[in-house]
Amino acid sequence: MQVDFYHGLLASRGPGPRRRLMVFGWLIRFLVVMLLVRLVWRFVGGLIQGAARRQTQAVPAKGLPLVRDPVCDTYVDQARALTLRRKGETHYFCSEHCRTEFKQRP
Ligand SMILES: [Zn+2]
Repeated sequence: MQVDFYHGLLASRGPGPRRRLMVFGWLIRFLVVMLLVRLVWRFVGGLIQGAARRQTQAVPAKGLPLVRDPVCDTYVDQARALTLRRKGETHYFCSEHCRTEFKQRP
């Protein structure tokens, strides 16, 4: 019988070819999973980036840190703000007027 002959041939070879097939199957499964993980990762990364972009858009300055003027409560670019160090803390002001007013406070 033809079938028995092939079956016997496979059996005589042992688990070799079948095992290789199984390994190949797992490899494909692994690749598919990796692809899915990458897709999910990209999607999640895009969401995080989108959220970060939305957050920076809420602040008018382009990436520059904003600091609050304690006198008039306006937000100033840290790079352009006038500074005053008092009690180990740095205070930022929109103008010389606010800085002098802050200095006169107790
Ligand atoms: Zn001010």
